[in-house]
Amino acid sequence: MDSIYGTALLLWLSASLRIISAWPQPAIKAQIRQDSSQLSADEYDYVIVGGGTSGLTVGDRLTVDGKFTVLVLEYGYFDTSVGMNPRRMFNITSEPSPGLNNRTFRVGVGCVVGGSSTVNGQVFLRGSKLEYDAWKELSGPNSTIRYNTKYWSKDAKIYATFGGKPQPLMKNLFSAISKMPGMTVPEDSGAGEAGLYWYPISQDNVNFQRSSARTGHWEGLNRSNYEMIVGAKPNKINFDGDRAISVQYISRNDSSTPPVTIKARKHVILAAGSIHTPQDLPGVRSNFQDHSYIPNIAYSWGTTPNGIFVPRPWCSMMPPNLAAMIGMPVSYTKELIEGYKQQQHVYAKLFRKKNNLHPLSRGTILPDPDDIDKEMKVDYRASSNTLDTRVVIEIIKFMRRYMTQSDLKIYNATEMLPGAEMQSDEELMGWARGIIIPSVYHPAGTELGVHGVRGLSVVDASIMPTLVGATTSMTVYAIAEKAAGMIKAKTK
Ligand SMILES: Cc1cc2nc3c(=O)[nH]c(=O)nc-3n(C[C@H](O)[C@H](O)[C@H](O)COP(=O)(O)OP(=O)(O)OC[C@H]3O[C@@H](n4cnc5c(N)ncnc54)[C@H](O)[C@@H]3O)c2cc1C
Repeated sequence: MDSIYGTALLLWLSASLRIISAWPQPAIKAQIRQDSSQLSADEYDYVIVGGGTSGLTVGDRLTVDGKFTVLVLEYGYFDTSVGMNPRRMFNITSEPSPGLNNRTFRVGVGCVVGGSSTVNGQVFLRGSKLEYDAWKELSGPNSTIRYNTKYWSKDAKIYATFGGKPQPLMKNLFSAISKMPGMTVPEDSGAGEAGLYWYPISQDNVNFQRSSARTGHWEGLNRSNYEMIVGAKPNKINFDGDRAISVQYISRNDSSTPPVTIKARKHVILAAGSIHTPQDLPGVRSNFQDHSYIPNIAYSWGTTPNGIFVPRPWCSMMPPNLAAMIGMPVSYTKELIEGYKQQQHVYAKLFRKKNNLHPLSRGTILPDPDDIDKEMKVDYRASSNTLDTRVVIEIIKFMRRYMTQSDLKIYNATEMLPGAEMQSDEELMGWARGIIIPSVYHPAGTELGVHGVRGLSVVDASIMPTLVGATTSMTVYAIAEKAAGMIKAKTK
């Protein structure tokens, strides 16, 4: 018997987690260095820590006119295959989550040139205008943040495609959801609105190959002013007063080699991602957020609808955004409490709109107190605010209405998970705590306080004050494009 697994947003996200391994080998002309003896200098205009999604985007933009030199310090290695392979991922296990029956989880982060954009699920969603407006509100009156499609235009060098026509079953599911009460259906890709829509994936539309920061912002660039050293582990940013002036790194695999210091004439740029950028900066990291999800709410069809679903990477569907989350940070400072109040204020507005994929629990990313060089301690603290779990329960109830009261009711589906016997909120809450996964690999918002520091910028996913109710790579590309423009203007 065919079955359908529904999890609000993440049903279709998981269908898109497809690995494209037959990437054609391009001519690689940019300058990859394996060790420091191969570097052309010991000072550069810009030093970028992290050659991932944001780091390579910024590096490309800063080197394009040939006026400035850039060195990228990347912890991972160059690898032309793509997809979620342990070889290209950090090996991190989270702290136990008390709100989720003390379970621990693998923390997914790319560890390779191109970063998470080379291992991700390629679901390519932007946030909504309202969410970027919320950032503006949180960032103060002088903020220039706004929803701006120019960052995803043809110049972006990152490609997206809808692939092919949706399969009949997907059309069926789409049609039934679109008639659910309160559902809105903006144009394809959302166009800055929340609701139900078909969304693209980050692949080119000719060969349907992954489009990543590596393919868009590194490969094929023939620039002597753009270098990257791989297998480098930055362990110190040096300051002259309040100004960042250089970065020290050691070899990732050979701790016997002496540390190397690279001077940044203009600017140090941190782009090591939400989990590792906090390692490089002092301060509390208590604004950590990720999207939680339920891996399976399962139904068996009574009568099988037309068009069996055969997952294909180019056939994707955007379900309604119904998940959300809340919770106070662990380490309380006056500023954190004030910041969190402001976040709740903007969330209160967003909750009244369509997009509720906003986690309200807050986790931490902290260095190991016994050894600062060890891997960061990642504590999701997911569902530490019970409102998050309550939203999950609303998702289960939504799925029940969808399967039994919408156009799909003619197929007489039987609920397999959590199962019809689970009726009360308490029963559903207990079930959900045992099954929720606290991450869909969208770490963001680690509260980086670089105020009062000159010559240093953070350009990666960690700068999102609140997580967008969408996958994150499109937003990271836009952040990096904007950051590159700002850094250029500030340091010319
Ligand atoms: C498995 C997975 C699936 C995902 N699925 C999707 C999806 O379907 N759609 C979507 O839009 N988003 C998805 N994401 C999220 C998205 O890819 C990320 O939000 C985005 O790529 C983050 O960009 P970044 O620049 O912040 O970090 P990254 O792209 O991760 O770049 C950080 C880089 O820094 C390097 N680095 C780390 N520590 C150090 C250090 N100490 N020194 C030097 N270098 C360091 C890393 O090796 C990496 O290359 C997924 C992520 C993962 C991991």
